Amino acid sequence: MAVNSRISGLKDRSVAERRALVADGAGVDAAALTALDAGGLTVEQADHMIENVVGTIAIPLGVATNMTVNGRDYLVPMATEEASVVAAASNAARIARVHGGFHASGTGPVMIAQIQLLGAVDPHGARARVLEARQEVLDLANAQDPVLTRLGGGARELTARVLETRDGTQVIVHLHVDVRDAMGANAVNTMAEAVAPVLAERAGARSLLRILSNKADTRLVRARAVFDAELLGGPRVVDDIVSASAFAEADPYRAATHNKGIMNGISAVVLATGNDTRAVEAGCHSHAARDGRYTALSRFEKDRDGNLTGTLEVPMPVGLVGGATRAHPAAQTAIRILGVTSATELAEVIVSVGLAQNLAACRALAAEGIQHGHMRLHARTVAASAGASPEEVRDVAERLVKDGRIQVEYAREVLESLRSGDR
Ligand code: NAD
Repeated sequence: MAVNSRISGLKDRSVAERRALVADGAGVDAAALTALDAGGLTVEQADHMIENVVGTIAIPLGVATNMTVNGRDYLVPMATEEASVVAAASNAARIARVHGGFHASGTGPVMIAQIQLLGAVDPHGARARVLEARQEVLDLANAQDPVLTRLGGGARELTARVLETRDGTQVIVHLHVDVRDAMGANAVNTMAEAVAPVLAERAGARSLLRILSNKADTRLVRARAVFDAELLGGPRVVDDIVSASAFAEADPYRAATHNKGIMNGISAVVLATGNDTRAVEAGCHSHAARDGRYTALSRFEKDRDGNLTGTLEVPMPVGLVGGATRAHPAAQTAIRILGVTSATELAEVIVSVGLAQNLAACRALAAEGIQHGHMRLHARTVAASAGASPEEVRDVAERLVKDGRIQVEYAREVLESLRSGDR
């Protein structure tokens, strides 16, 4: 069934109504969404995932609407504790939709495992001998994972460098592995450990670290979109977003915040689908510093028609098999709502959401300022922090927004007067 992500007014519905609409829009059984009750994870299930479990902590799961990627609609589950993230992504996706939504492509799911070799007396000769053993090493690596090779993945290439360090000269070998629908850490670590003795023997060296690199720059995914000038607020807003983008490209202080806005979208989908947020964050931030200076991950430009074009390219090591993606019932439900069938497709949606999130933040900053929309949505969290019950939250939040005072202290005052009936 073709998904329709254009559900208007989702924010004004009850949770039960939203579940029904999302299930209907995504073409999944509404009963599947009950897996999201109470965080979707029992303490017993959690006990099988990590050590010394004493409980679980729940994070709100929302669904972003309006996303179109490569001509297909997606309803996107996002796990985040931060107000306004889901609304902002949905708004930006609505603006991009007018000009065809997001277009995404990538390098393919290739991860790198590093093998560190120490003590070679002739490091350059050692490097050459390692590379001569290329086929033997690739075959040995592939023998570790018949499932992966059967699926068309496996070790593809071997590269090596001589690295000068403060602890002497080292030979660093990279094993490049197509991990298909896996995030791939366990898969490539197993291969790295298996091939290390052969590499050490050829190099006349000792192997030390054997582990993947989170600088996953052979697993890049890029997204682009055209954002309509009129819907953004006019030509001045377009020019101002270009200026804001240039600021982030030139200044690491601004770039960190600019990229944090991108990660608001990326990490929320990564978490919702049970993927490794730290691996993705390490990959993205190392990519932002790839030329030796930390910079913005995205670019915004004005096109010939005066609209805004946005582009974002980042490493995106996410999977659909392994890790918590299979073990966490809520992650499984999130993946069903998304309806993706490969890790590459998931990665393309995630990077598109990152670009949508980034555009929304830049637009708000360049137009009315970030607090205008954010604080309105944040008012409910402030009301709850002040002790408002779920029934009281809406009334208190509305009053805070109306009075332009979105502060916990004031929320307590409002709550007190509400409870004493003298509003
Ligand atoms: P995994 O080992 O559980 O699953 C991968 C395996 O699944 C493959 O080796 C293959 O044998 C099999 N498989 C079945 N169907 C497949 C398909 N369609 N495509 C690919 N493989 C298929 O998991 P993984 O993805 O290798 O490792 C991910 C986990 O490793 C995450 O939980 C991550 O947090 C953790 N981890 C991360 C790091 C790091 O980022 N530095 C280090 C160690 C572990």
